[in-house]
Amino acid sequence: MMTQTMAPKDAKTVKTKYIYTFGDGNAEGNAQMKNLLGGKGANLCEMNRLGVPVPPGFVITTEACTRYTEKGREDLMEAIREEMEQGIAHLEQIMGTRFGDRENPLLISVRSGARVSMPGMMDTVLNLGLNDDAVEGLSQRSGESRFAWDAYRRFVQMYGDVVMGLKPESKEDEDPFEVLIDEMKKKRGVANDNQLTTSDLKKLVLQFKELILQRTGEEFPTDPWEQLQGAVSAVFESWNNERAQVYRSLNGIPEHWGTAVNVQAMVYGNLNDNSATGVAFTRDAGTGEDLFNGEFLVNAQGEDVVAGIRTPQQITLEGSRRWAELAKITEEVRREKYPSLEEIMPEVYRELAAIETRLENHYADMQDLEFTIQDGKLWILQTRNGKRTGAAMVKIAVDMLNQGMIDEKTAVLRVDPHRLDELLHPVFDPTAIKSANVIAKGLPASPGAATGQVVFFADDAESWAENNKPTILVRMETSPEDLRGMSVAKGILTARGGMTSHAAVVARGMGKCCVSGAGAIHVDYRARTMTVDGQTFREGDWISLNGSTGEVYEGRIITQEPALSGDFGKLMKLADKYTRLEVRTNADTPEDAATALRFGARGIGLCRTEHMFFEGERIIPMREMILAADETGRRTALDKLLVFQREDFRGLFETMHDLPVTIRLLDPPLHEFIPHDEAGQREIADDMGVSLEVIKDKIEELKEANPMMGHRGCRLGITYPEITEMQVRAIIEAALDVKMKGIRVIPEIMVPLVSKVKEFEAQKNLIEATAETIFAERNERVEYQIGTMVETPRAAMLADYISPNAHFFSFGTNDLTQMTFGYSRDDASKFLPIYLKQGLLDHDPFEEIDQYGVGGLVQIAVERGRKGNPNLSLGLCGEHGGNPASVDFCHRVGLDYVSCSPYRVPIARLAAAQASLKNEK
Ligand code: PEP
Ligand code: MG
Repeated sequence: MMTQTMAPKDAKTVKTKYIYTFGDGNAEGNAQMKNLLGGKGANLCEMNRLGVPVPPGFVITTEACTRYTEKGREDLMEAIREEMEQGIAHLEQIMGTRFGDRENPLLISVRSGARVSMPGMMDTVLNLGLNDDAVEGLSQRSGESRFAWDAYRRFVQMYGDVVMGLKPESKEDEDPFEVLIDEMKKKRGVANDNQLTTSDLKKLVLQFKELILQRTGEEFPTDPWEQLQGAVSAVFESWNNERAQVYRSLNGIPEHWGTAVNVQAMVYGNLNDNSATGVAFTRDAGTGEDLFNGEFLVNAQGEDVVAGIRTPQQITLEGSRRWAELAKITEEVRREKYPSLEEIMPEVYRELAAIETRLENHYADMQDLEFTIQDGKLWILQTRNGKRTGAAMVKIAVDMLNQGMIDEKTAVLRVDPHRLDELLHPVFDPTAIKSANVIAKGLPASPGAATGQVVFFADDAESWAENNKPTILVRMETSPEDLRGMSVAKGILTARGGMTSHAAVVARGMGKCCVSGAGAIHVDYRARTMTVDGQTFREGDWISLNGSTGEVYEGRIITQEPALSGDFGKLMKLADKYTRLEVRTNADTPEDAATALRFGARGIGLCRTEHMFFEGERIIPMREMILAADETGRRTALDKLLVFQREDFRGLFETMHDLPVTIRLLDPPLHEFIPHDEAGQREIADDMGVSLEVIKDKIEELKEANPMMGHRGCRLGITYPEITEMQVRAIIEAALDVKMKGIRVIPEIMVPLVSKVKEFEAQKNLIEATAETIFAERNERVEYQIGTMVETPRAAMLADYISPNAHFFSFGTNDLTQMTFGYSRDDASKFLPIYLKQGLLDHDPFEEIDQYGVGGLVQIAVERGRKGNPNLSLGLCGEHGGNPASVDFCHRVGLDYVSCSPYRVPIARLAAAQASLKNEK
């Protein structure tokens, strides 16, 4: 029955607030409201509260975006109409202007702003509110009619592109508006846009409008309210454009977040020569050095800096001098042509420097600012935590800790574990680089070394990558359409653009080597060539890049692994201080084990013994063993394999010293070892002294419809016990040998792919019997442990029956994912990308553990396993062991360790520390 306290059905629901205003030192939002207002909007509100000069505006929330996506344009526009009118009135009042007014028009910018920044992925419209009347008002007010008409020209162009969809029709095609501008410049005999006169610009505006009408059948809207609705809708639509989707999937940003829209009064960096626009970083985003830096352009709009069409100047004198040295520009030329902001507008510079310090201290993190100077008055358009390279991330965290700005825990939490990967990136081989020939120099936009074959188009980079060809993507400049190609290329080289150009920002975000603004390079897209100093490079030619110095080299240069910096070591030590979960490594060779040790692995969590047979002469006895007609044949081959295995295990034990080494019994999908071509089959036949037919028959007999679910794992050791016997002999004899050398070793022997308790027991009995035989032969014993992998759902469910007999469990989440979802590990790539694109899956479950399904089984197995054996040791050795979100899960369910490939050990260590910090109460 309904109770009295329940609200009646028709009670008025509270109306959702979709718009938050800011300006004049007041704001309805603050920095904590990122989910609702997006990062940009929340920070604009926060800056207002701090008294930083920000043009007034309002934010349309991400909830409005969700409503737009669900219910469409008309519904949303009606829902926000009243609030939007109030928002515009708020701007009119502060600015003393009127929307669409002929005398004193209010002009606004409309920009996207998601929870996390997605640079350049979504749409922006500037100068909105201009029409044939308002342009006159702007002209009179500013006293600059050329400026007013240029703003109008830019607006029609941008609106035509972003809202009305006038884009180049193919990749070789140019922007249709730029074609008209180029024609006009040719007609006037001028080289640059800024040489066009007011009357040229007036004509261009007319031509643009005609072009729009011709191509879309629609008139360019003159009503500013209609313009505003169009622009807001376009920004919401752009959340779902292809490049934004690609960016989201590369960066793990969920589809359902949506973007906010920021509407702000326009300020102009292109009003006159006492105006400028720029981007600044409170510390160096490439190296992490504590040096205020950035770039600006006099008499320009923000997009001019990002587009990389003009060469920007540096903000500080120090930065300007360093830049000139890199670019080999003399001090005289620098001072005359490229002076710093500090030199040409010292007062504005001082105000900017004070603001950058205030903002960095307020956010206690490196800030990335956008600013505009309009006729000598400084405006801050945006602040956000700056994107940075992995190296900068580590240095800034350690420096800020030393400077007392953050505490140890914050320093550990500051570094994104994925990004540590970049510190481990290759550098050029020092000998090879000595004889290398530098062909050009650009800006060191994103560090690391890369070598590859030149391609000029992003889609070529993609198709070459599919054929395993390493590429360097060479472009005049990059745009968000190039994203996918950039992500698969080894390196990126652009002829234009500064350190804040699209290529530079995106490459740093990806941790990809990039050299930008190599002005000496001439790119011809049609001919698919790049010319430097008279030397021509064609598509497919090899070049190399050093993203840390900006050098471009001819030819292919060998790369090698980097040395790790002192800050990295400090951070890792700090991480270990707060970690509970241990990190081991998956390694099959002493070399891999040694690398993992350098990265701080605390043992081997998985040695896949079948991997020891892939190489060189070893594959021959392995094939003999698989193809043998009977047990005798198998034993003959196994005797040969024993020699290799014993030697391998000695190497592993010696390398790992007293750390645990988990060795898994053979678990090969057999088909991986069998020669599929006739020449290979003939070779094996000759080797084994049988006819080709015999081998062919045997291969036919071994064929499986589904090898992943077939004769593998412990099923192999059960059907061919002699394999388990040989491997146990190799392990125990190697352990006895190294024990003789005074090395303490406790091998952990692991049985794979168990689903029946009896399977495990049968293998365990065999292992123990074999070990006892060897101890008797050698009259010497060694301690060892026996455990099992948990990688079938059945093993997880029956964990309490298996665990009393096991020392340890190791979760094989690759197979567990395969069997829980029923997605074949071999075939999932055919449909997973579509599932991800359609949002049916948030992540690839083979990369990041599915916490509810697969993770649910892990949790059951942990509880039941410990119930059956309270001393059970628990680890995870699937690919998820190096994935930060999965490491966090492992911490929460109480595992003792994760095991991952050597290069992911630092990532897992940091993720493990962050997991304990985030989950500490
Ligand atoms: C697993 O299944 O998670 C595992 C580690 O084993 P493999 O990948 O060798 O099947
Ligand atoms: Mg497995």
